[in-house]
Amino acid sequence: MSYPENSILVLVDVDPAGNAASSTAALIGAAAAVGSPVALVVGGAQAAVDAAAAAGASVVLTAQGDDAALTVPIVDALQAAAEKVRPDAVLISNSITGRDVAGRFAVRTKSALSADAIGVSRDEEGIVAHHSVYGGAYLVDSAPTYGAAVITVRQGAVDARAEAVAAPVVEALEVAPSGAIAAKAGAVEAVEVASSRPDLRGATRVVSGGRGLASKEKFALVEELADALGAAVGASRAAVDAGYIPQSHQVGQTGVSVSPQLYVALGISGAIQHRAGMQTSKTIVAINKDAEAPIFDVADFGIVGDLFTIVPQIIAALEARKK
Ligand code: FAD
Repeated sequence: MSYPENSILVLVDVDPAGNAASSTAALIGAAAAVGSPVALVVGGAQAAVDAAAAAGASVVLTAQGDDAALTVPIVDALQAAAEKVRPDAVLISNSITGRDVAGRFAVRTKSALSADAIGVSRDEEGIVAHHSVYGGAYLVDSAPTYGAAVITVRQGAVDARAEAVAAPVVEALEVAPSGAIAAKAGAVEAVEVASSRPDLRGATRVVSGGRGLASKEKFALVEELADALGAAVGASRAAVDAGYIPQSHQVGQTGVSVSPQLYVALGISGAIQHRAGMQTSKTIVAINKDAEAPIFDVADFGIVGDLFTIVPQIIAALEARKK
């Protein structure tokens, strides 16, 4: 079949259960704003194909996955898809798997790689990726001088959504294995996550706590507010280093980058390394007893005061509204 001239190839992140990750709608939304989204689902269930179509992909390519051989089969499929579709750009989630795939694919196809974009646009020369760098202090653009850019897109950063396509074309892709050396998973063990909270990456609301929480026991207040808001829980590095919460919750330069609709910072000073991971949040609320704390420089709403006095009142007000 022939593909639209302005195709944008979107790699759908697929979870171990075969479902499309929550980043799918934003990736396809970003692609639709600059071209015609063609989605690639590797090793996904029918639900992942349906999700890509519902998110606005006019064509969904499917390929077999291999759970044991990490990443390489996805890169093989992406290469096969790119050779067929000849896209103007390839959009990939800036997830752990996405970053790995994007790097390998870019090297293999000698393409330019734009990492951690917060948006894309098109000018007369092609696709441009937009980035927030140095802790959100600068916005920079990147574009390849030749070929299609490979762009990883920060989860939660893109608000654009595309219309669902009435009759998307679903096509099975033939992939010749490259034989590239692949790390193999020796054993995979499913770990039940007891938490009903959303995952930090891609969450629409995040409540984070810092050193101001003062102890692991008191950090529970962050979790209480997160639950009242239906939010994911984040933390500063100081809170992680103090053992209040595991490192997987760390937001910032050496942690997770988030771009939620709402980011609430409790007892966090707002060091540049923390801001690097949250400054692109749409609305930032900060509670800190130090009126000079740098977090207030990036906050849309700030409360100067003791979080142990303020946060319980906010939780009570939120609970009262639910009744
Ligand atoms: P602090 O800076 O100690 O701030 C605590 C704040 O809590 C203060 O502003 C204080 O006024 C307030 N407070 C105290 N008690 C209360 C109260 N009762 N009510 C209200 N407010 C209160 N940091 C990250 O977060 N993420 C990273 O990824 C990261 N990566 C780093 C990488 C490198 C290479 C380096 C050098 C540093 C990195 N850091 C990172 C550390 C960063 O520089 C800061 O040290 C850290 O973010 C500080 O955490 P904090 O704001 O919780 O603590």
